[in-house]
Amino acid sequence: MTYIGRFAPSPTGPLHLGSVVAAAASYLDARAHRGRWQVRIEDLDTGRCDPAAARNMIRTLEQLGMVPDEPVVWQSRRLASYEEALSALRQCEVLYPCACTRAQVRRRAPHPGVYAGTCRQGLPPDTRPRSLRVRLDAPSDQFTDRFAGPQHSEQGIDFGDPVVRRADGSVAYVLAGAVDDVVCGVTDVVRGDDLLPTTATQRLLLGLLGMTPPRYAHIPVVLGADGRKLSKQNHAPPVDPTAPTRVLRDTFDLLGLPHDVTKRAANMPLAALWEAGVQAWRDQLRPAAPTSL
Ligand code: GLU
Repeated sequence: MTYIGRFAPSPTGPLHLGSVVAAAASYLDARAHRGRWQVRIEDLDTGRCDPAAARNMIRTLEQLGMVPDEPVVWQSRRLASYEEALSALRQCEVLYPCACTRAQVRRRAPHPGVYAGTCRQGLPPDTRPRSLRVRLDAPSDQFTDRFAGPQHSEQGIDFGDPVVRRADGSVAYVLAGAVDDVVCGVTDVVRGDDLLPTTATQRLLLGLLGMTPPRYAHIPVVLGADGRKLSKQNHAPPVDPTAPTRVLRDTFDLLGLPHDVTKRAANMPLAALWEAGVQAWRDQLRPAAPTSL
């Protein structure tokens, strides 16, 4: 089977070093396996996503030397595919309306953020449904992550019934992303480990849809000086695509590639730097160091 990898950013702002590290890990892994690489723009949340930011991300990736092998996939143009998945779930009789707010789920003790199945048995009379959830009956999920090792997640503790249609009517990322990976032929998902807790849910949703999940490999997310994941919310600065060698050198450092690759980088053309990076990744096939700034 040909390896197909992908980078799937949400276009909420310019690429910062944390997102470039995730992009580069998926790109290096695809190239090291002599595979193909896709870019998918996850722009379903119209309140947060900005088409100009998406175009800017694609251009920045290109300036850094990461050019997808296939046309960019835009989730906003694939709505029919997600509606089909929702119909299939409806036929499995696992969809139910939920009236709980995100804040209520977030406050839930002792497992904040994990939905406790409150609306599984139906809504009280005169209660307005907000979202649609999927009943996940599997008590647990297990898989081996290529980088993070064996994973075991328990229903009610590590995952609950996910929202698949949000209060604003849009299809939730957790379903759309999982469906896209399979429909677009992705064999290997390489992404930040902030998404590791979501993986069981995605795998179980795919199972309900009769789809085989891809392999997963989660890399440590890049942390800022405050110990939190670099993100737009904590004002991570955008990378400077006009200095691609410097950005790549920092990226390879954060991925733990050997110093002789990154030290020589200043004098290397971009293509040669990528070649050295791919060779180094092929030798170690994983990020070698915890990634923090
Ligand atoms: N769009 C998600 C994000 O930017 C990533 C999704 C994924 O890699 O599966 O956090």
